[in-house]
Amino acid sequence: MSEFKTKEQKKTFYKSKEWESLRRRALERDNHECQECRRQGRVHLDSKKVEGKRKSIELNVHHKYEIEYFPKLALVLDNLETLCLNCHNKVHGKGFKPAKEKKWDDEMW
Ligand SMILES: [Zn+2]
Ligand SMILES: [Zn+2]
Repeated sequence: MSEFKTKEQKKTFYKSKEWESLRRRALERDNHECQECRRQGRVHLDSKKVEGKRKSIELNVHHKYEIEYFPKLALVLDNLETLCLNCHNKVHGKGFKPAKEKKWDDEMW
Protein backbone atom coordinates (compact mmCIF):
# COMPACT_ATOMS: atom_id res chain seq x y z
CA MET A 1 0.00 0.00 0.00
CA SER A 2 1.22 3.45 -0.80
CA GLU A 3 2.17 5.71 2.02
CA PHE A 4 2.31 9.47 2.09
CA LYS A 5 4.33 10.22 5.16
CA THR A 6 7.12 12.22 3.66
CA LYS A 7 7.16 15.31 1.52
CA GLU A 8 8.67 13.32 -1.30
CA GLN A 9 5.91 10.74 -1.24
CA LYS A 10 3.27 13.43 -1.28
CA LYS A 11 5.00 15.28 -4.08
CA THR A 12 5.08 12.15 -6.17
CA PHE A 13 1.42 11.55 -5.48
CA TYR A 14 0.32 15.06 -6.38
CA LYS A 15 2.22 14.78 -9.63
CA SER A 16 0.69 11.46 -10.59
CA LYS A 17 -1.71 11.07 -13.50
CA GLU A 18 -4.22 9.34 -11.24
CA TRP A 19 -4.39 12.32 -8.95
CA GLU A 20 -4.51 14.77 -11.84
CA SER A 21 -7.55 13.14 -13.39
CA LEU A 22 -9.34 12.62 -10.10
CA ARG A 23 -8.64 16.20 -9.15
CA ARG A 24 -10.28 17.31 -12.35
CA ARG A 25 -13.31 15.19 -11.62
CA ALA A 26 -13.60 16.71 -8.17
CA LEU A 27 -13.41 20.21 -9.60
CA GLU A 28 -16.10 19.40 -12.12
CA ARG A 29 -18.32 17.81 -9.54
CA ASP A 30 -17.97 20.87 -7.33
CA ASN A 31 -18.55 23.21 -10.23
CA HIS A 32 -15.15 24.79 -9.72
CA GLU A 33 -16.49 26.42 -6.61
CA CYS A 34 -15.11 26.49 -3.13
CA GLN A 35 -17.43 24.26 -1.14
CA GLU A 36 -16.73 26.01 2.12
CA CYS A 37 -17.53 29.42 0.66
CA ARG A 38 -20.65 27.94 -0.85
CA ARG A 39 -21.76 26.59 2.51
CA GLN A 40 -21.40 30.10 3.81
CA GLY A 41 -23.36 31.56 0.96
CA ARG A 42 -20.39 33.02 -0.83
CA VAL A 43 -19.50 32.15 -4.36
CA HIS A 44 -15.93 31.69 -5.24
CA LEU A 45 -14.81 30.72 -8.70
CA ASP A 46 -11.56 29.24 -9.73
CA SER A 47 -10.60 32.16 -11.83
CA LYS A 48 -11.05 35.85 -11.65
CA LYS A 49 -10.10 38.65 -13.90
CA VAL A 50 -6.84 40.20 -12.96
CA GLU A 51 -5.84 43.08 -15.15
CA GLY A 52 -8.03 41.80 -17.92
CA LYS A 53 -6.50 38.34 -17.83
CA ARG A 54 -8.07 35.30 -16.34
CA LYS A 55 -5.95 33.88 -13.66
CA SER A 56 -6.68 30.58 -12.08
CA ILE A 57 -4.88 30.38 -8.82
CA GLU A 58 -7.66 30.05 -6.35
CA LEU A 59 -8.68 26.46 -5.99
CA ASN A 60 -7.30 23.50 -4.19
CA VAL A 61 -8.69 20.04 -4.08
CA HIS A 62 -8.52 19.10 -0.46
CA HIS A 63 -8.55 15.68 1.16
CA LYS A 64 -11.07 15.73 3.97
CA TYR A 65 -9.23 12.82 5.45
CA GLU A 66 -5.55 13.57 5.06
CA ILE A 67 -3.66 11.15 2.92
CA GLU A 68 -0.94 11.04 5.50
CA TYR A 69 -3.28 9.35 7.94
CA PHE A 70 -5.70 7.77 5.50
CA PRO A 71 -3.63 6.71 2.49
CA LYS A 72 -6.43 4.45 1.34
CA LEU A 73 -8.60 7.50 0.77
CA ALA A 74 -6.07 9.30 -1.40
CA LEU A 75 -7.91 8.47 -4.61
CA VAL A 76 -11.48 8.39 -3.36
CA LEU A 77 -13.60 11.08 -4.93
CA ASP A 78 -15.86 11.33 -1.89
CA ASN A 79 -12.87 12.27 0.17
CA LEU A 80 -12.15 15.28 -1.99
CA GLU A 81 -13.47 18.75 -1.66
CA THR A 82 -12.79 21.84 -3.70
CA LEU A 83 -11.60 24.70 -1.55
CA CYS A 84 -10.27 28.13 -2.31
CA LEU A 85 -6.85 29.02 -1.02
CA ASN A 86 -8.29 30.96 1.87
CA CYS A 87 -10.51 28.20 3.12
CA HIS A 88 -7.87 25.63 2.48
CA ASN A 89 -5.39 27.47 4.62
CA LYS A 90 -8.00 27.83 7.31
CA VAL A 91 -8.77 24.14 7.31
CA HIS A 92 -5.13 23.25 7.66
CA GLY A 93 -4.40 26.10 10.03
CA LYS A 94 -6.88 24.68 12.46
CA GLY A 95 -5.00 21.46 12.47
CA PHE A 96 -6.35 18.01 12.18
CA LYS A 97 -9.95 17.78 13.24
CA PRO A 98 -11.17 14.54 14.71
CA ALA A 99 -13.83 13.08 12.48
CA LYS A 100 -16.58 15.56 13.00
CA GLU A 101 -18.26 14.80 9.73
CA LYS A 102 -19.66 11.48 10.75
CA LYS A 103 -22.00 11.46 7.81
CA TRP A 104 -19.27 10.54 5.42
CA ASP A 105 -18.15 7.63 7.57
CA ASP A 106 -21.63 6.24 7.67
CA GLU A 107 -21.93 6.35 3.92
CA MET A 108 -18.60 4.69 3.47
CA TRP A 109 -18.85 1.85 5.87
ZN1 LIG B 1 -13.48 29.37 0.12
ZN1 LIG C 1 -5.95 20.16 2.12
